[in-house]
Amino acid sequence: MESEKGKIDRRTFLKTSGMGGAALVKSFTDSGYTLEQAKLKAVWKDTRIAAACVSMYSLNILKDNVAAAADGRQLSGREIEMMRRLAENTCDHYCTGCMKCASVMGSEGRIPDVMRYMMYYNGYGEKDEARRQFMALPETVRNNLALRDYSSVEPACPHKIEIGRAMKEAVRILG
Ligand code: SF4
Repeated sequence: MESEKGKIDRRTFLKTSGMGGAALVKSFTDSGYTLEQAKLKAVWKDTRIAAACVSMYSLNILKDNVAAAADGRQLSGREIEMMRRLAENTCDHYCTGCMKCASVMGSEGRIPDVMRYMMYYNGYGEKDEARRQFMALPETVRNNLALRDYSSVEPACPHKIEIGRAMKEAVRILG
């Protein structure tokens, strides 16, 4: 689904199990929205965003999104603030794909790609797709991923991601 205004990076909003997340999520459902509907409404209300590309993998999601677009309701200022807090509370360890790690380790390390696959798995619930893409990496990359020393790379990450630990976790989950 495209709004008329720009592209949002939806990753910021995806992790909803962080500290305080459940209560914040409940505040939206109490208002009659699903969390996904509230996210869409937040995007549509944000004048910085020119368009949004939204994956819809089922008819139910399509129906929810259409309902959100058609109900004529907007998030209140308080709900926007709660969405901001939810994003803030759940964006830890969020890889922006900035490639700073790759500039230290080299692009063949494929760290941003692996972080993206983990986001598909953990954030989007797209487990099969995450595994499929991971398994499409060259075998040498997959085999070395958990064995490499990332100590010189981790300080470069602006989000303080424990890259070595994340790569081991990726091999465990996706390999
Ligand atoms: S430096 Fe950190 S945020 Fe940037 S691509 Fe690498 S892991 Fe992701």
